[in-house]
Amino acid sequence: MANPLQFERTPAHVAVIGPDLTVRRALPARSRRTIGAWCFLDHAGPAPPGGAPLRVGPHPHIGLQTFTWMIEGEMLHRDSLGYRQPIRPGQVNLMTAGRGIAHSEESLDPALGMHLAQLWIALPKGEHEREPGFEHFPDLPLVEHGGFRMTVLVGEVHGQRSPVPSYTPLLGIDLASAQAAEAELPLDRSYEHGLVILEGDCSVNGEPLPRDTLLYAPPGVDRIVLRSDGRARALLVGGVPFGEPVILWWNFVARTQDEIVRATNDWNEHRRFGEVEGFDGPRLVAPDVSLLKLRR
Ligand code: MN
Repeated sequence: MANPLQFERTPAHVAVIGPDLTVRRALPARSRRTIGAWCFLDHAGPAPPGGAPLRVGPHPHIGLQTFTWMIEGEMLHRDSLGYRQPIRPGQVNLMTAGRGIAHSEESLDPALGMHLAQLWIALPKGEHEREPGFEHFPDLPLVEHGGFRMTVLVGEVHGQRSPVPSYTPLLGIDLASAQAAEAELPLDRSYEHGLVILEGDCSVNGEPLPRDTLLYAPPGVDRIVLRSDGRARALLVGGVPFGEPVILWWNFVARTQDEIVRATNDWNEHRRFGEVEGFDGPRLVAPDVSLLKLRR
């Protein structure tokens, strides 16, 4: 068994968005900016059926891919390339921002409740200014193992490979149990990994993992044992350490402050990103870019 001293535990930043929806931000954290190329991890919900609709007006991205994993509820994605795509439970949306894209997201039917994870993947040098794109993945491979139903979001588990492509070596697995379960998961030793609980109670290598906590395993860890006490769900992410320092500011991932200033000015002046058609509401306003401070 891996030495538990190798693991780090970092509290997620918890924000309550309206009466029914809690968002837990596990990445970036002060002590942990990236896990592989994963540079942002928000876990929203679960929110009860009939809650307030979630509506995020048009806003821009650069330098990253947004990765949306829908667990409960339905959302509608619209973007400046003209894609208009509903996403339903068990599905992934992957939007490649590259040099620039704008999108909106809104719940389609608040009566269905809301539970999702949205992550960002930093694009490596040479790809970070590529043409923008959007892909929807309606079906992902499922693997039953040790009482967990594992959905292969990115990468490969037990020979089952996700159709979701990545520009750097990357892993994403949703693990759901309907009752008490225990599974040993082999890990790639060249990857670092992170695990968050999405629902229920779980322990990792015999130690309970509180909700609202990111568990980090550095490269070299070759397995973890995940145990649930009942109905539960966890998200495992991993990847080869990204190796390039990146700056996250608002919805941008960049190498330099100047890139962010230019992207903000272009958004404010209706250049570069195009317009999102059909969203009933205003576009988001960028924060004051003069407040930008370099953060690594
Ligand atoms: Mn977005």
